[in-house]
Amino acid sequence: MGTLLKEAAIPGTLDGTPLEVLEEMSPEEQFSWALRVYGDRAGIITSFQDTGCAMIDLMRQAAPGMRVLTIDTLRLAEESYRHIKHVEARYGITVERFQPNPERLARMVTQHGEFLFFDSKPKQEHCCSVRKVEPNERALASLDVWFTGLRRDQSAFRATTKRAQWVERSGRHILKLAPLAAWSAEEVRTYMAANNVPLHPLYAQGYTSIGCVICTTPTRPQEATRAGRWRWFNHLDQDSKECGIHISGSGI
Ligand code: SF4
Repeated sequence: MGTLLKEAAIPGTLDGTPLEVLEEMSPEEQFSWALRVYGDRAGIITSFQDTGCAMIDLMRQAAPGMRVLTIDTLRLAEESYRHIKHVEARYGITVERFQPNPERLARMVTQHGEFLFFDSKPKQEHCCSVRKVEPNERALASLDVWFTGLRRDQSAFRATTKRAQWVERSGRHILKLAPLAAWSAEEVRTYMAANNVPLHPLYAQGYTSIGCVICTTPTRPQEATRAGRWRWFNHLDQDSKECGIHISGSGI
């Protein structure tokens, strides 16, 4: 009974396009469809790593005018802040920045200190909740279609990423599209080089995944892509490398 109720609550897309059709669309077709059907309720949320920048380039060709949003944890690297401005200038876009709630942030730092993420996994998750997940939920509240740069080759956790799925957030369903989910890292870089897409400068310093300062470090050649995230937790399982943005709420 519970399952039936849950399934009944899942909405259809506004023009009736089924998930199976969205799953098979090219990235350009997904962007174009989403802008046409959902307008400013569709947007890319990105941290401006390689896949995110490739998505922006594809979007600018197929669906110019689509919103681009980012989560500014206030602990990003200086290189990241400069890179975002560079991308804005390159594509003539204004990125919408979502930052932590000031009261929640001040309370957390007063209670636990600025570097609580070193203390324990729960405290790191609390920091990510305040600095990333809550601002991300606020960004999602303005969207019905969420484009993400998740790729299946990024980690075991992401290996089953669908190109189109409904996810539940704050009691409602959002259409989550991962247009480049099936692309390899090499395909992304080849596309970027061919189209002169700006590449985050920290990749040249050995980073393979880029987030907040301290919590992100360069990786060695034999390491997993996200091994440089919270390096002091590398003895834990793969899921420990997710900050919560992609695991809170259920995928359907
Ligand atoms: S990555 Fe680190 S600094 Fe950034 S929100 Fe998570 S725990 Fe906090």
